[in-house]
Amino acid sequence: MKPRDIFINALHRRPTPRPATGTATSIVTMDLMEKVGVFFPQAHQDAEQMAALAAAGHTELGFDNVMPLFSVWHESAALGCKVDWGEVGRMPDCRESLYKMGDAIRIPRDLLSRPGCKVALDALALLRERYGEEVAVVGKVFGPWTLGYHVFGVQEFLIHTLLDPDAVRRAMATLKEVTVQFANAQIEAGADALCLGDHATRDLCSPGAYRSFLQEIHQELNERIPCPLILHICGDTSDRIPYIRETGLPCFHFDSKVPAPTARALAGERLSLMGGTSNLDVIRRGTHEQIVQDVKEKLAAGVDIIGPECAVPLDAPCANMKLLAAEARAHAVNGPAR
Ligand SMILES: [Zn+2]
Repeated sequence: MKPRDIFINALHRRPTPRPATGTATSIVTMDLMEKVGVFFPQAHQDAEQMAALAAAGHTELGFDNVMPLFSVWHESAALGCKVDWGEVGRMPDCRESLYKMGDAIRIPRDLLSRPGCKVALDALALLRERYGEEVAVVGKVFGPWTLGYHVFGVQEFLIHTLLDPDAVRRAMATLKEVTVQFANAQIEAGADALCLGDHATRDLCSPGAYRSFLQEIHQELNERIPCPLILHICGDTSDRIPYIRETGLPCFHFDSKVPAPTARALAGERLSLMGGTSNLDVIRRGTHEQIVQDVKEKLAAGVDIIGPECAVPLDAPCANMKLLAAEARAHAVNGPAR
């Protein structure tokens, strides 16, 4: 079975001859950029360079997927956010907000042909053409909660979840159309699956707020976007995995703050799990033995796709990801009984 099929089967918890490996978030480190000869910030702004760096996730590290959207800002830049694309050792960021809550949000008609979106769409097409037979091509979109942080600023957005929840709901209803448009364009460009990032982290979004603002929208996105979605939320998500499980989303990319056996117990039998390997303790400073042990523990707990919990720190050694992937590939599994 090709890596692509292993990855996609694992997303749906279907049988695979060996465990799947990969991640829905950035795999870029300083030493990986040096290996490939492609660097930030150009890799965010040029499709050829973006595709070349993303391809290393498979060719250098041995993951079963490639994913070229390394930052969180592409569609927000296309919406009009003034993104600072960072430097070789610094991820992109944006300090200015675009709207005040209550303003009418305008989705540009040429959203998808603006550089923020276009570069990523072109990179996905290049990856599909070059590697699509062999590995899974994964794209990335952000849900309306994260887009709300981006266009309003975190504080303005969050305070209105309390002061004017209806205005927040109206804003999210508009912003989710950005998610759907960009998702459909990525599928058309060749994405097999998409990461759906929505930063409904525990410290910024209570389980009640997840339920009241997001659960239905995640369910709707799952129904409207015609490819498997991998929901990514950082931090301790144990209080909302039971709600995520009810959305029908096929896969959850989880943070090591949730122990893998807990994540599996909360996720039930249907929701597949990706990640859960600590960036700090394992990817950044894990010894060979710790990495081997981590893979063993994740597989024993029923994690379906072995990989880092979130975007890897730029100063991590990429050899640790390579070892993690190789270690996972070396295990054989026997069909669906897990
Ligand atoms: Zn994350």
